[in-house]
Amino acid sequence: MIYLDNSATTKPCKEAIRAVAENMEHNFGNASSLHKMGINAELVLKDVKKTILDKLGLTGEIFFTSGATESNNTVLFGVPKAYKHNGKKIVSSSFEHPSVDMPLKELSEAGYEVVRISPLGEKSFEERIIDEVDGNTLMVSVMWVNNETGYITDTAKIYNGVKRKNPKTIVHVDGVQGFCKIPLKTLKADFISLSAHKIHGPKGIGALYCAKGSRFLPLLYGGGQQKNLRSGTEPVDIIAGFGAAVKAYPDCTARYESLNSRLSEKLSTLEGITFNSFNNAKNILNFSVRGVRSEIMLHFLEEREIYVSSGSACSKGKKSGVLSEFGVSDSDADSAIRVSFSPETTEEDIEALFEGIKDGIIRFRR
Ligand code: PMP
Repeated sequence: MIYLDNSATTKPCKEAIRAVAENMEHNFGNASSLHKMGINAELVLKDVKKTILDKLGLTGEIFFTSGATESNNTVLFGVPKAYKHNGKKIVSSSFEHPSVDMPLKELSEAGYEVVRISPLGEKSFEERIIDEVDGNTLMVSVMWVNNETGYITDTAKIYNGVKRKNPKTIVHVDGVQGFCKIPLKTLKADFISLSAHKIHGPKGIGALYCAKGSRFLPLLYGGGQQKNLRSGTEPVDIIAGFGAAVKAYPDCTARYESLNSRLSEKLSTLEGITFNSFNNAKNILNFSVRGVRSEIMLHFLEEREIYVSSGSACSKGKKSGVLSEFGVSDSDADSAIRVSFSPETTEEDIEALFEGIKDGIIRFRR
């Protein structure tokens, strides 16, 4: 089995599985309990928060959520409530994940001025985001790495430019696809959304980084866990799995670079291949195979036990508009394949994928 759909989700690593099982069996206390079992559970929460902050190279708060969908919703709805008097304008990209996109639509209907910036333009994407910031700008929300094309946004450049123009503007980054996978130099934000299942941790657990001094109001009300900002008994077992996965993720910068250039070079030798990725995280490559629809190629590869994606797994059954934001034509979008690597991906996997694509073209090209 060759799994090349790691932007959709990842195979849980042994360390994460072990940590989940161990905590389910031996550390099932409620972190709010005053006795020893509660304290032991709380220790895990503290330890994993530190692990995540260390990996980000940041200080501040970590809140555990059910995943990045919840982290994104928490910021997009919770920040406007906490900063009611900071303005009514929100600036974002035109290529966000639905968990940012849909809240932005709601906010727009509620009277916020929502401005969406395309990745294509004469000036850089980052400069055009900063240009939009004024005294009325409440928040900027941009993703770090795009899940469909791998496009990297320099959120550090955006953060610095935004704060220069309006120090009160909150900067939120959906950091899901970059975390552990690309170097940190392009990451800076007041809030960062993260998800464990994209880095070989368990599903259903995510985090929200909150810089010191930044505030939000909660989405959920209840028992007052996590400083009254995210009620609900903390799932210590999958949190432990999240921490173990963060610790276990190796530095793959060079490896991804080399796999990506090898695959790109090989695909370039085939006729009718166009690349939809540019300025991209090297663990993701999106390309179109002229004359073969994505689903046809995907299922053909599946017969060889090679698993790829036809774009974004989150938009199954729905056509995502993200590729067209990156200048991809409708027909190229219909034949787009997204390949995403893991630390376990090998050159042999790339070879097998290439042979599969080549044979798929011979068999199906119209
Ligand atoms: N943001 C991005 C960029 C994503 O790729 C995903 C997962 N597809 C999410 C948010 C949502 O994450 P989760 O599955 O943890 O809710």
